[in-house]
Amino acid sequence: MRILLVEDDVLLADGLARALRQSGYVVETAADGKVADHWLADGSFDLVVLDLGLPGLDGSEVLARLRGRRQKVPVLVMSAREALEERVRLLDLGADDFLVKPVALAELEARVRALIRRGQGIVDSTIHLGRLTLDTAGKRAWLDGAALDLTAREWAALEFLAQRVNRIVNKDQIMQALYSWEDEITPNAVEKFISRLRSKLEPAGIVIRTVRGLGYYLEKPPESPDAVV
Ligand code: CA
Repeated sequence: MRILLVEDDVLLADGLARALRQSGYVVETAADGKVADHWLADGSFDLVVLDLGLPGLDGSEVLARLRGRRQKVPVLVMSAREALEERVRLLDLGADDFLVKPVALAELEARVRALIRRGQGIVDSTIHLGRLTLDTAGKRAWLDGAALDLTAREWAALEFLAQRVNRIVNKDQIMQALYSWEDEITPNAVEKFISRLRSKLEPAGIVIRTVRGLGYYLEKPPESPDAVV
């Protein structure tokens, strides 16, 4: 899950980004409205957390341009401006939710989870796949009820595959889901993640298949109900 955090207060941006990364999200930060607008035009984010008072381009203009391009990525606006007419204006511009500064971390994370679920059309945050259970809200996984020990990136790879059961995803898509732009990407990194995941999942009959030249898919276990995607 990739989040673009647009905030010109560097200390605040660092703190929020760190908290969100610890929760397993890939977070890019932009301190300038023009930069944010440029990155958003690429359309590779699952959520935008957007400050309003920004250099370069005001947050509400970033939002207006995003919606003007008919991009549907959920936007959570953060602002010190609390006035009702401001909220109404932002909702009219296409904001999905609104947080008044100072932002409480727990509240930010709860709203981020809710918006990402809504953005993906996932109503239930639990995915059942045979003996594997994923709680996408709590970012935890269980095999036969026993908690699975996963690193943040293993979790992110598993979640990505589990939300696309039986659909082939290529290495680029997985890398995009896992890596921040500032990270160094080694050619074998994805293979390593997949191989570690496999060794953790295969004892419970959860299989990640390789399709040569195309990518990977998580095979739907025979006894599982339809995956919630
Ligand atoms: Ca600001």
